[in-house]
Amino acid sequence: MPHYDPKSPKADEFIEHKEILETLEYADEHKSDIGLIDSILKKARPRWEGGVLHCSGLDHREASVLLACDIPEVTEKIRALAEEIKLAFYGNRIVLFAPLYLSNYCVNGCLYCPYHLKNKHIPRKKLTQDEIRAEVIALQDMGHKRLAIEAGEDPVNNPIEYILESIDTIYSIHHKNGAIRRVNVNIAATTEDEYRMLKDAGIGTYILFQETYHREGYEKLHPTGPKSDYAWHTEAMDRAMSAGIDDVGLGVLFGLDKYRYEFAGLLMHAEHLEAVFGVGPHTISFPRVKPADDIDPDEFDNGISDEIFEKIIACARIAVPYTGMIISTRESENVRKEALRMGISQISGGSRTSVGGYAQEERPHDTEQFDVSDQRSLDEVVKWLMEGGYIPSFCTACYRVGRTGDRFMSLCKTGQIQNCCHPNALMTLKEYLEDYASPETRQLGLEMIKRELFSIPDEKVRATAGRYILDIEKGGRDFRF
Ligand code: SAM
Repeated sequence: MPHYDPKSPKADEFIEHKEILETLEYADEHKSDIGLIDSILKKARPRWEGGVLHCSGLDHREASVLLACDIPEVTEKIRALAEEIKLAFYGNRIVLFAPLYLSNYCVNGCLYCPYHLKNKHIPRKKLTQDEIRAEVIALQDMGHKRLAIEAGEDPVNNPIEYILESIDTIYSIHHKNGAIRRVNVNIAATTEDEYRMLKDAGIGTYILFQETYHREGYEKLHPTGPKSDYAWHTEAMDRAMSAGIDDVGLGVLFGLDKYRYEFAGLLMHAEHLEAVFGVGPHTISFPRVKPADDIDPDEFDNGISDEIFEKIIACARIAVPYTGMIISTRESENVRKEALRMGISQISGGSRTSVGGYAQEERPHDTEQFDVSDQRSLDEVVKWLMEGGYIPSFCTACYRVGRTGDRFMSLCKTGQIQNCCHPNALMTLKEYLEDYASPETRQLGLEMIKRELFSIPDEKVRATAGRYILDIEKGGRDFRF
């Protein structure tokens, strides 16, 4: 991996405003050019080459042409191709996770976020290690194995030492058969040294949403606090990857600025990481601005319809076929259903976005970061996924056996995911069914496992997975390929 020179990747060089404007112009000029659009779709189609499933993806210009095209038949082709790619690389597995809010203390002034410093209506709260324990036990009792921790930026209240101690606490809790096996981290941009500390603490993905790639818009939306430094924020993933964090997660907060600008910026960011570090982002999240205390999404002019939102997801699936794509409970059941078809591979379930929300009987609203649209329990989400033909997966194996960064990508690129992720998904689903599911969900899940075991291509893997799955009934846990 090339050594990162802190002077080289300047945000404005890899998110080049002029290039984005030219891309949008190019996309407008060619959005009805059926010949070009067909050739782009053809290039992006998955194909077998020498026994290996291959997909070339698209660059930001090509993908922007697809996004700009508003011919209904082409939109249908885009959706069909996104679905084909999703099935080819991710199959019917959907990974589940939950956010865990540690603290809403924040010194930033982000105009879209209720945690902004000037908001005096909300109580400020930071979980103690004992409170984190109670939250994690509640999450384990739901069946979660994978968390994303969230915190506002506040060097005094939420210093890196607090985050590291919290990660240690989370990993140390083993309640009944429960365990959190992967802690992803969504905290503000920080230094390379602190990223190294996070890496040493055994984090999964480091997630940081860019919010907007439009520098001028960014500076208006972030008038005060450390997050107001656009370059510091935009170059964060370079520092994280230089510090050895293999898996990073990008995202735009859709609704803040023009979606076509954001889409091109997002892909340019992914291209930059791939070019410098040899591996692109592990995940891309797709959040939209939601109502929250002191926040009215209608105050931002760039809200997008569900239709456009789904098209963005489909175009991203085609452009970055190997990248995991995430949608949260910000979105309703219906939007999530379509998004899953278009390419989403990970969703949250049973989420509470308040600090200390899980250990309480009722969903508390006072410290909520945003309004949750999909308020179903994890069991309801698991059942719903299976009714839609998806395998809910609680798998965290890649991370635990060191298959991160380019090692995960090569698994994905060689199509071996079917012999690895597929049995792991079934085993972790079986663990969930045994330990946490309602009787109806359990029944549905056992039938699904029986059916799906037969689709594991390698005979030996199939037999071993079958044996492990039976062992789970007798108390065996924690198997993985
Ligand atoms: N403080 C960290 C940071 O600055 O990146 C952690 C982020 S915050 C806990 C997680 C994300 O929530 C933010 O990056 C932002 O995109 C999103 N968010 C903030 N306000 C929101 C709102 N009103 N609706 C939807 N998402 C929101």
